[in-house]
Amino acid sequence: MPAHLADPDRNPSFTRGLFLGELREELLHPFPELGAEESESLNAVLDAFRAFAKETIDSRQMDHDGRFPDAVRAGIAELGLMGVNIPEAYGGFGGSAIVSNRVFGEIGATDPALAVYFGAHQSIGCKGITLFGSEDQKQRWLTKCATGELVAGFCLTEPGSGSDAQAMRTMAIPSADGSHYVLNGQKMWISNAGYAGVFTVFAKVPTEVDGKKKDRVTALIVDAHAPGVSLGKIEEKMGIKASDTRSVTFENVKVPMADRLGEVGQGFKIALEVLNSGRLGLAAASTRGAQVVLEVALAHAKQREQFGRPIGDFGMIQHKFAAAAVDIYASDAGWMLTAGMVDRGGIDFSLETAACKVFASELVFRAANEALQIAGGIGYSKEYPYEQAVRDARINLIFEGTNEIQRALIALSGLQQPGEELKALGKAIRDPLHSMGAIGHYISGRAKKQFDRPDFEHVHPALASEAGMISENIRDLALAVERTLFRHGKDVIERQLDQERLANAAIDIFLASATIARATWAVNKAGGPEHAVADLDMAKLFVPAASRRARRAIRAIDRNQDERLVAIAKRAMESGKLTVTVPTDR
Ligand SMILES: Cc1cc2nc3c(=O)[nH]c(=O)nc-3n(C[C@H](O)[C@H](O)[C@H](O)COP(=O)(O)OP(=O)(O)OC[C@H]3O[C@@H](n4cnc5c(N)ncnc54)[C@H](O)[C@@H]3O)c2cc1C
Repeated sequence: MPAHLADPDRNPSFTRGLFLGELREELLHPFPELGAEESESLNAVLDAFRAFAKETIDSRQMDHDGRFPDAVRAGIAELGLMGVNIPEAYGGFGGSAIVSNRVFGEIGATDPALAVYFGAHQSIGCKGITLFGSEDQKQRWLTKCATGELVAGFCLTEPGSGSDAQAMRTMAIPSADGSHYVLNGQKMWISNAGYAGVFTVFAKVPTEVDGKKKDRVTALIVDAHAPGVSLGKIEEKMGIKASDTRSVTFENVKVPMADRLGEVGQGFKIALEVLNSGRLGLAAASTRGAQVVLEVALAHAKQREQFGRPIGDFGMIQHKFAAAAVDIYASDAGWMLTAGMVDRGGIDFSLETAACKVFASELVFRAANEALQIAGGIGYSKEYPYEQAVRDARINLIFEGTNEIQRALIALSGLQQPGEELKALGKAIRDPLHSMGAIGHYISGRAKKQFDRPDFEHVHPALASEAGMISENIRDLALAVERTLFRHGKDVIERQLDQERLANAAIDIFLASATIARATWAVNKAGGPEHAVADLDMAKLFVPAASRRARRAIRAIDRNQDERLVAIAKRAMESGKLTVTVPTDR
């Protein structure tokens, strides 16, 4: 049995394993696949949505009007989509993570603002109730969310507390008779606020532990129409304009004790768990969105002729399509593999959802931008979908945890276990006579790490050289992790440039691993490499490129110009001027 499954202290997480130099290959195979029945019901849902979308959804009009027509929201609810990933027991469709995210992807590709409506409701708005609600809460709230009778919203961000959610100021004070909380505070940027019937709200509850006062983040289910709840004006946004985004103010709102979600102090954990699943939906929707906008550009590139040939014949245009196709293949592999982990249960997938979110959100923004470039002048016109696609795609790098925060999360979470092991070693070194075993174990482990690379055992031989590249990356990442920890100890928390490099390497290694797992599955299913040429081409382009990026990131931990970089940034921050004076200026 692999060490991390036998040992409860070693986390069953693929990406955390990478930081230890471990290849947890059993988490990659079998690549998730739908059974016949599940596939049939998914396709029925997708077909029904597509038919509805063709008739009813006019993305450009919704962007122009800054709202969804009532028929669109009613239709989505009628199709049962408001409850796709809500368990059947509470009136939902009970879709697995793969099915729900595939549906989410289709909605995102049709209209990104609608995906935000759908995601804010289901992936985050009422997800806390699904994951942590009591039976009574699920009966009272979730059943209505499943039918769309109630639209849900998620209230975490505040004017003074964005990435630093712990800094929130919203307070929930227990009433004297203990029957309810009195909620006061303001939340910002709340998607679905104008439509919402229920909010999951995060607030601090004052507590006393060992005589010390402490305010602890707690989750509450709040009736959006309760006295004291008021909404700000609709935010005018760059993109996803039809999505309703507002501030929400709570002024002496009475929240029954029965509507506290989980325990006092459990709120931060609930928010993180909820956002974990939200990020996967965002990745699925971004990936499908990237594909759709480039397919519009593809049709244009086939018919638009310049210099007597379709522009799609030119190498530079072909490069754009192929590079995006390969990244879309990898991104799909990443979110599907992660959704499979969610469905298998018992696997920590938090770093994988963060990796998928970062990769897919940057992919869709790049893809929309490239599609616009391929379209040329018309790409810049409001008559065509490209400019809206660029505007709509941009938000994905910001919400559900900015990509900077996701990178820090991946690196610092990944460093946790190696950090603890080195700390234990540090203790052993201070008491060598009693710790020869531990020190010997470390030295032999290190020597092994230096030369051995963890080899893939279940990858198809047609992908052997790509598997070898990833193996080397994993070994090199673990050695770099160790050097970083030796060099900086706990100060690594301040070393954001190294965190970014470690995270970038881990993201690429995870996606490359997911890609060869997907391609292996495709080759086996097709009955041999000669029948899966398109899949192999994708994997054989993505993996070496991702591996090269990972190698460069790891190398830069030791060889970089960080001091100079920080000096330039600090000088700019102090002077308020970004660069030195241009010779023409005074
Ligand atoms: C359209 C839209 C919809 C939204 N919907 C919701 C919703 O439904 N519910 C909800 O609760 N919130 C929602 N949000 C809020 C969103 O999640 C936050 O905007 C996001 O988390 C960033 O917080 P902030 O805007 O305060 O930026 P800040 O936290 O101020 O960050 C600004 C910049 O600094 C960077 N930064 C901050 N801290 C660090 C650090 N430690 N290291 C490196 N870089 C750092 C960030 O990455 C970012 O680039 C929405 C936002 C938008 C724009």
